[in-house]
Amino acid sequence: MPRPIVATIHTDALRHNLQVARQQAGAAKVWAVVKANAYGHGLMRAMHVLSDVDGLALIEPDAAVAVREAGWKKPILMLEGFFDATDAVSFMQNDIQFAVHNEDQIAVLEAISLRLPEVQCDVWLKMNSGMNRLGFRPDVFHAAYARLRAIPCVRSIGMMMHFANADEANNPHLPVAEQVRRFRQGTAGLEGPLCIANSAAQMLEPELDLDWVRAGIMLYGATPGARTAREFGLEPAMTLSSQIIAIQHLAPGEAVGYGSSFVATKPMRIGVVACGYADGYPRTAPTGTPVIVHGVRTGTVGRISMDMMAVDLTDIPDAHLESPVELWGKNLPIDDVATAAGTIGYELMCAVAPRVPVQESK
Ligand SMILES: *Cc1c(COP(=O)(O)O)cnc(C)c1O
Repeated sequence: MPRPIVATIHTDALRHNLQVARQQAGAAKVWAVVKANAYGHGLMRAMHVLSDVDGLALIEPDAAVAVREAGWKKPILMLEGFFDATDAVSFMQNDIQFAVHNEDQIAVLEAISLRLPEVQCDVWLKMNSGMNRLGFRPDVFHAAYARLRAIPCVRSIGMMMHFANADEANNPHLPVAEQVRRFRQGTAGLEGPLCIANSAAQMLEPELDLDWVRAGIMLYGATPGARTAREFGLEPAMTLSSQIIAIQHLAPGEAVGYGSSFVATKPMRIGVVACGYADGYPRTAPTGTPVIVHGVRTGTVGRISMDMMAVDLTDIPDAHLESPVELWGKNLPIDDVATAAGTIGYELMCAVAPRVPVQESK
C-alpha cells in the first residue's frame, strides 16, 4: 500500500474558477497562469481542464515547449521572457509569445532578425511601473517600443505591467492608481494590446481588465488577498489529505516531537499523521495550525517533522487509526493554513512535494 498522503485535484473547481475569471474579465481575454506546474496542480492537467481559456502564461521554457508539443494550439506567453538567444529562437519556432523587459533582450532580437530572417515573434513590452523587478521605466518606454518596432522579426507588440499592491489598492507607498497612471502615461499613443491585471486586480478592480488578464491563483481557488477565496466565489482546486497512522496518550507534563516544544498540561490524545515538511507541509506551522481529522477541525501539536506531524484528538473521541485527515482543501481553506504558518496559499500549493501522489476527481 502506498503511504496514505495524496493530493486530489478537483477538475470541476478548476473549470468553475475559470468561469469566475471569465465573468470578471468581461470582454478581456484570459491568460491562465500555469507556471510552477500550474501552481502544483499539474501543467498537462491544467492544459486539458482549462482548454477553454484564451492562452497559457508561464515562466519555464521547457514547460512552454512541452505544452506546444502536447498539442496546445492557442497562445502561450512567457512572463519572464527568454533567458538567452537559444530560448528566444525556440520560442519563435514554437510560436510562443514572450515578455521583453530589458535592452539586452532587444539587442538579442535584433541579432536574431539578421541571422534568421524567416522567424517571427509576438512580444509583450514590459513596463516597470514601480514594482522594480522587470521592465522599462515609463520615461524610456516609447524608445524601447520604437526600437522593437524597427526589428523585422517582431510581428506584434503588446504592453504589460505588474502590480505591487493589487490586493491593497491604497497602499501608501505605491497605490494601484499610481501604477495605472504611470502605465497610461508611458504607453500613450502606442498601438497594441494591453495586459496589466493579475487575479487580485482582475477581481477587485474590473476596470483594469483591459485587453487581456493574467489569472493565476484564482484559478486554483485560493485568495490573492483582500477577501477570502469563498467571498470571491472561488472553489478549492486541491485537497491534501492523509491518515492517522498512530495514536498516543499523553500524561500532563509529557512532550510531543522534536525539541519537546509542546508539553501537555492535561491528559491528551494525540494522532500522528503521515504528512511532514518533506511532503511540502510548512515546517513553520505552529501548534494550533488548523487540520481536519475525522471531519472535525482541530490543530497541530508541536513541531512538524519531515514525514509526520501530531494533531490533537482529545476532543475527537471517534478518531481512530486510519481516520481521514484533511491538511487543506474542500473543507479547510488553504489560506487558513497559510495564515497560521505565516505564508500564503500560493506557497503551500506550489510546494507540494514530488513524492506526494496526485489523483484527479471532479
Ligand atoms: C504569477 C504571475 C501572475 C499571476 O498572479 P496571481 O496573483 O497568481 O493571479 C500574473 N502576472 C505575472 C507577471 C506573474 O508572474
